[in-house]
Amino acid sequence: MSEQVCACPKCTCSVDSKPVEKEGKLYCCESCATGHADGSQDCGHNCKCGK
Ligand SMILES: [Zn+2]
Ligand SMILES: [Zn+2]
Ligand SMILES: [Zn+2]
Repeated sequence: MSEQVCACPKCTCSVDSKPVEKEGKLYCCESCATGHADGSQDCGHNCKCGK
């Protein structure tokens, strides 16, 4: 089993638990799924992928 990583470009979080699917890609959270359009800088997993 390969570990699925969030499709957000700067995010390296794995999405094994509760993935958010958007256009065929898996994201670790809603913020990443929207490309941080909400202005969020992190995804709730201690990384700053939305910065
Ligand atoms: Zn992340
Ligand atoms: Zn993410
Ligand atoms: Zn992200």
